Amino acid sequence: MTIQNNIAEVTARINLAATECHRSPQEITLLAVSKTKPCEAILEAIDAGLRQFGENYVQEGVEKIQYFADRTDLVWHFIGPLQSNKSRLVAEHFDWFHTLDRAKIAQRLNEQRPQNKAPLNVLIQINISDENSKSGIKLEDVDALAAQVAQLPNLVLRGLMTIPAPETDYERQCAAFRQMEQAFQQLKNNYPTVDTLSMGMTDDMAAAIHCGSTLVRIGTAIFGARQYHN
Ligand SMILES: *Cc1c(COP(=O)(O)O)cnc(C)c1O
Repeated sequence: MTIQNNIAEVTARINLAATECHRSPQEITLLAVSKTKPCEAILEAIDAGLRQFGENYVQEGVEKIQYFADRTDLVWHFIGPLQSNKSRLVAEHFDWFHTLDRAKIAQRLNEQRPQNKAPLNVLIQINISDENSKSGIKLEDVDALAAQVAQLPNLVLRGLMTIPAPETDYERQCAAFRQMEQAFQQLKNNYPTVDTLSMGMTDDMAAAIHCGSTLVRIGTAIFGARQYHN
């Protein structure tokens, strides 16, 4: 399978899932997760029409952004965990940050965002079901962090993101996603800039879309399995 074929297939799956729940496929952004994949693979995805890319590792992501510097139509999302000592590179190079889980990082990104760039789009990461993961905050803590982000002029609060514990069962996937949908609607009522619910990966994108996801983060189904070297 080529990347182009994979993208056609993923797009068809998104369209089907949207139609099943009477949503417009246009409401759902396909974010291509290109971590560990070479720039040639990203170029194939660009040729197939994709413009939004997600990276998990700061250095790798910045190298790719610099490689594609003349492509001003691309949108780069940082979706991995961020140590505070690497925040400057995210503030200087990325358009979106999906994994905000503490005020300290928000303050650093706000201070480090270059004035000649648009404000950084920020999603608060929720730990909805994965007790083993340290990433993300509890739903009950969203309001406090959202209020802090809303005061920072170089950040825009756009919504919520989650990586649930892996589940193969559709109903179990939905159980986590429905809680996210509810929290997202509440946040939207309080903050007019909120319009993005980032949830759904290769193995749970249909459930996520049925529960209101506006952005699915897809790696494996587009670029194939990843290989990690130590
Ligand atoms: C790697 C990754 C993805 C993509 O996962 P696939 O199962 O390969 O589609 C999505 N979101 C995040 C945060 C990731 O780290």
